[in-house]
Amino acid sequence: LTQEIHRVVIIGAGQAGGEAAQRLRAGGFAGEVVLIGEEPHAPYQRPPLSKKYLAGEMGVDDLLLRPPELLAQEKIEFLPQRRAVWIDRASKRVRLEGGHETAYDALILAAGARPRRLRLPGADLAGVHVVRTIADIDSFKPAFTPGAKLVVVGAGYIGLEVAAVARKMGLEVTVIEAAVRPLARVTSPEMAGFFLDDHAAHGVRFLLNAQPAILKGDARVRAVGLADGAEIEADLVIAGIGVDPEVSLAQGCNLPVDNGVIVDADARTSDPAIFAIGDCARRPTSFYGDRMVRLESVHNAIEGAKLAAAAILGQPRPREEAPWFWSDQYDLKLQIAGLFNGYDRIVQRGRMEERAFALFYYQGPRLIAVDAINRPAEYLGAKRLIEKGASPAPETLADITTPMKAILAQA
Ligand SMILES: Cc1cc2nc3c(=O)[nH]c(=O)nc-3n(C[C@H](O)[C@H](O)[C@H](O)COP(=O)(O)OP(=O)(O)OC[C@H]3O[C@@H](n4cnc5c(N)ncnc54)[C@H](O)[C@@H]3O)c2cc1C
Repeated sequence: LTQEIHRVVIIGAGQAGGEAAQRLRAGGFAGEVVLIGEEPHAPYQRPPLSKKYLAGEMGVDDLLLRPPELLAQEKIEFLPQRRAVWIDRASKRVRLEGGHETAYDALILAAGARPRRLRLPGADLAGVHVVRTIADIDSFKPAFTPGAKLVVVGAGYIGLEVAAVARKMGLEVTVIEAAVRPLARVTSPEMAGFFLDDHAAHGVRFLLNAQPAILKGDARVRAVGLADGAEIEADLVIAGIGVDPEVSLAQGCNLPVDNGVIVDADARTSDPAIFAIGDCARRPTSFYGDRMVRLESVHNAIEGAKLAAAAILGQPRPREEAPWFWSDQYDLKLQIAGLFNGYDRIVQRGRMEERAFALFYYQGPRLIAVDAINRPAEYLGAKRLIEKGASPAPETLADITTPMKAILAQA
């Protein structure tokens, strides 16, 4: 197959698509690389959108991963503001909105995910927003003024990051969450409790186990009505209630889709000429018994790009890094390595009161993940341990007087 690949088309110019284009070139691919993106921007990083970009501490240029000049230098044909609408697998062609068609020998789907929107009466009022793109942030950033009343729906990482920035900028913040605790899908009750307390100490008001039922206002949102009849004043409502993988193109050409485009360990779909990477794909992950996962992270976007580029180049499958993720809230830097799902024991190192500690997650005797707050050495150490398949005794990790370096050396 590799000999026959002269033209690679990538749909989606985000974290994964931009990375794949670059990896193809870095790996020596001399054919054509076409990068199609519906947004006006060259590939950019989304993580700062709910952090420094929202806070006004970073500009658009700082977000760009591969500015247009660099793409041109690397001879990557970048087509911004172009949307792919149809894939014809038989003739290996992609149709763009407006009718233009482009041929491929290999195709990489890197279409990301779409933020879920509130499905409530009044959800289309002005002042109701999601957090996914530069355009999303730019649309509500001017309303981030001291004293403005912000209601965040959904206490996941993005919702809590937005809440933290908003408090720093002097807004009044209420977070509404359907579950009984924040971060319910992504971390343990212990870590969730820590964040809950910290946000409360910063003046965020939480309504847990609560359901928004209606958004009230005339042209602009004025209040959020809850299922129990309570009403919360709002100048601005931001929904952070998760995303759905963008799989419409894959579905349209009958590729297997089940919470993401299904791919193998090379990021390849059931069609040997088509790959899927990043937020839109579900793949077997190393370290966890080839469990099929759809991760939403920079790590996963990079790994997918690495795998697809290597497969297209006919190179051996690259080694995977253990999953990693981070979140910044106030002066807290959370760093995560591994996947915590299925843990049965938590080992704590350091004290929560000091705002510098780590929670290690074990499944039986096996270390599977870490959540580290302001503890980079613990994060890095645990990541290495997971990659090595090494599990120190819980007592060793719990003992703060034994440095991580020593624990790693013994493993
Ligand atoms: C606010 C926010 C904060 C985040 N914080 C973190 C963090 O702290 N750490 C972390 O690891 N991850 C974080 N993430 C997640 C991370 O940004 C994503 O996992 C990553 O961007 C996924 O890359 P991707 O290329 O798969 O998708 P995207 O970056 O979303 O790129 C997909 C692109 O494809 C385009 N597209 C879709 N369909 C088409 C089509 N038919 N034609 C043309 N173009 C199309 C989309 O418009 C989009 O530009 C955050 C995400 C957000 C939104």
